[in-house]
Amino acid sequence: MEEDLLDNSAGFAALGLRSELLKALSDLGYEEPTPIQREAIPPLIAGKDLVGQAATGTGKTAAFALPLLQGLEPRESGSPAALILVPTRELAEQVSQATHRYGRDLGVRVLPVYGGQPISRQLQVLRRGVDIVVGTPGRVLDHIERGTLQLGEIRAVVLDEADEMLDMGFAEDIEAILAETPEVRQTVLFSATMPPRIDAIARRHLREPLRIRMGRDTAAADTLPRVRQSAFLIARAHKTAALGRVLDVEAPQAAIVFCRTREEVDEVTQSLNGRGYRAEALHGGMSQDQRDRVMSRLRAGTTELLVATDVAARGLDVEQLTHVINYNVPSAPEAYVHRIGRVGRAGREGAAITLAEPREQRMLKAIERLTGQRITAEKLPTVTDLRAKRLELLRTTVHEALEDDDLDRFRPILELLADDADIELIALAGLKLLHDANGGDVDEPEIPTVSPGRERESRPRDASGGRYDDDRRGGPARQRSSGNDTTRLFVGLGRRSGLRPQDLVGAITGEAGLPSRDVGAIQITDRFALVEVPESAAERVIRSLQQTTIRGKRPTVRRERFER
Ligand code: AMP
Repeated sequence: MEEDLLDNSAGFAALGLRSELLKALSDLGYEEPTPIQREAIPPLIAGKDLVGQAATGTGKTAAFALPLLQGLEPRESGSPAALILVPTRELAEQVSQATHRYGRDLGVRVLPVYGGQPISRQLQVLRRGVDIVVGTPGRVLDHIERGTLQLGEIRAVVLDEADEMLDMGFAEDIEAILAETPEVRQTVLFSATMPPRIDAIARRHLREPLRIRMGRDTAAADTLPRVRQSAFLIARAHKTAALGRVLDVEAPQAAIVFCRTREEVDEVTQSLNGRGYRAEALHGGMSQDQRDRVMSRLRAGTTELLVATDVAARGLDVEQLTHVINYNVPSAPEAYVHRIGRVGRAGREGAAITLAEPREQRMLKAIERLTGQRITAEKLPTVTDLRAKRLELLRTTVHEALEDDDLDRFRPILELLADDADIELIALAGLKLLHDANGGDVDEPEIPTVSPGRERESRPRDASGGRYDDDRRGGPARQRSSGNDTTRLFVGLGRRSGLRPQDLVGAITGEAGLPSRDVGAIQITDRFALVEVPESAAERVIRSLQQTTIRGKRPTVRRERFER
């Protein structure tokens, strides 16, 4: 095995977690604690009550589950020692699975209970004995009333997504459940928002709780570069497909895709390679040597995509990066800021694109608040968009080739062909061949999109555990935000001349004095490039680029010819 130079478990070990938990975390590929974990775990291990303001995506589940697991003692009794209340059945399943995974080496018995699941199975497991129950308030109360769940030995209660539970009308159920638990216990409350009603619950049921809140550090935002920031809302099941689609449309010169865990890094790398990208994994489990090799391949251009964890990407300084892609919303707004600081350096072009699950919208909002910059919610490009994009590029490629002074040598072939076919037909065949050579038709299924929405209000009150399904909340998604006041310029230099997006941005900002945020999408093909600039600055950009050299050449620069 490679030496683990980053000593990844140290971060969690420093929080005082026992070795079985550290091993589970390392096996899961967690490289370091998230901010909320760093703050919450030590006091929770010490037995303190805690009120945490944290949304989904911050790593809050591990923040409360790990200390619960740490505190479990081997017991004879089959009645649970810890109870986690959550608003929905999905969350009950998720939290239960996560807790089970973290506690694997401790032999912990975790049971999710929610409405809609056959009660007989729950009864069976309850009879055999459990350590931790994760349930929706309605179904938990059901079990208490039936006498099938005793809470007399509960030592810790977690109220997860407390604001959601109140919104769903679970306040009374929660009170009734808490009344069944021993008075001396540890109580933990997590909530994305802190309305007065939550405060009231905390005052009534928690003892001198420690309060922690995420996303208050605004210092990092000062250094934020101006890069194009956007987000795609996408259900978890479609994320890999969505990532591929986004990359196909963006066609980044060099990008880094951030993942949460090593495992995710490996999965995503594999899937991208399967899609024909040259992607390489970069994570903390790799030796310095391996990582150096990956980095030099990126610099040399043999790798176009890095798939990395935050830890592995720390200190990484690559000039070529044009895109930062967050495969998930980062666990803290500060992490987002650090990530996107890797593009758009020194006035260069950059884009930061985030794939967010509908539940993570709140984190996106928190990031917008911290950075004071908008993250535009965009509609995932459809197969039709992708096809249109390929055809458009085909059209531009051929259009530019018309100016080539090297066309005459093909005339004899054309004349031979024209003996038995119409010139138009020959042209069409030529187009088809070129199109096929460029990868041909896009033939892949559509990816269902999710509309940015008011997630909370759309949930029904459902005493059996409110169920909602992200995929079903369809509806029109927001349109792309690019305004009509931009225009595309043609630059007669392409990849073959070694042109990189930053060369263009550098030239435009340097020569025409345009701020880099005004430089829009850049597309580079083998022989030419297209760049979007504000219509109002187009003439100025053209004039100044015509008088400068890029990559040692003085390229043709003009408006793109045909109407779009
Ligand atoms: P949560 O905010 O609890 O819903 O967690 C969001 C996601 O982050 C889950 O998929 C977790 O598995 C993952 N996660 C939690 N803590 C860490 C960590 N320290 N490193 C990497 N991934 C994590």
